[in-house]
Amino acid sequence: MQLLNGKALAGTIRNEIREEVGQLISKGQRPPKLVAVLVGSDGPSQTYVGAKEKDCTEVGFDSEVLHLSEDISEAELLNTVEQLNEDAGVDGFIVQLPLPSHMNDQRILEAIRADKDVDGFHPENVGKMALGLQGFVPATPAGIVELLKRHQIDTEGKLCVVIGRSSIVGMPMALLMGKNAQPGNCTVVQTHSRTKDLKGICAQADILIAALGRPRFVGEEMVKEGAVVIDVGISRIEDPARKSGFRLVGDVDFEAVAQKCSYITPVPGGVGPMTRTALLQNTLQAYYRHQEK
Ligand code: NAD
Repeated sequence: MQLLNGKALAGTIRNEIREEVGQLISKGQRPPKLVAVLVGSDGPSQTYVGAKEKDCTEVGFDSEVLHLSEDISEAELLNTVEQLNEDAGVDGFIVQLPLPSHMNDQRILEAIRADKDVDGFHPENVGKMALGLQGFVPATPAGIVELLKRHQIDTEGKLCVVIGRSSIVGMPMALLMGKNAQPGNCTVVQTHSRTKDLKGICAQADILIAALGRPRFVGEEMVKEGAVVIDVGISRIEDPARKSGFRLVGDVDFEAVAQKCSYITPVPGGVGPMTRTALLQNTLQAYYRHQEK
């Protein structure tokens, strides 16, 4: 079994981006800029946004966090989105979800101009991804594709089973693995909470991508000998042995499955760091597209 070390690869990619940004600046150009809009004070959202800002600083991007009050109206948030759409100095921006319950997430996401939608959640970008046109791909599936690519994992003609169909992970993941590309060209089976005989289906997979959010759900009996296993899930479970009282686990029972598969991503240190890096790659892509105009 070989570990797909997302943390190490993400570090390599961040170094590459930092060098690229250094060259832009030495030519007198401005660095790319990413803005994160954070509404309210949800704990995990603050952590995610803080991490995104730190990543930007590390690669030399400009970044800004617009911290808005929990009780602003949807119209006020739409106004902020509009200002960011029009700001030529901003290459990409994200509105951190979840938003407060008095707001319609979809209405906000659809207000983001598609060429700045580095999260890849706007219907225009989702449509482009489905059609194989250039747009922004959501960070988690984009990071997984990059992980497979850089490890030169052959996916062509393989049976890929994706567990989960969310719009940010499972659905785009299945689309990308079925694309006429490398990585891609898989025969894809998308499974979900209503799937019958999930275990039997997973046990046939050459590539198994688990994104359901159920701690250690995928056991050894669900994995074919020699399969490639990508674990997207992140859950906190209690662990009295730790000072914090908890630890992070994935959707895969790592210890049991690792003995059987050819490649596997650890949690933490697998898909998570690749997701963060993919957002930087999307922002760089947005920057170049804006420079071309
Ligand atoms: P979600 O809750 O939106 O979707 C879960 C999907 O799993 C649904 O489509 C559902 O049909 C399916 N599902 C649920 N229970 C199932 C079951 N018993 N059998 C088969 N399918 C089942 O979750 P999400 O946003 O797609 O995230 C999934 C997991 O990935 C979560 O643990 C989340 O924290 C994690 N995640 C990690 C990253 C990362 O960067 N590593 C990024 C995004 C999400």
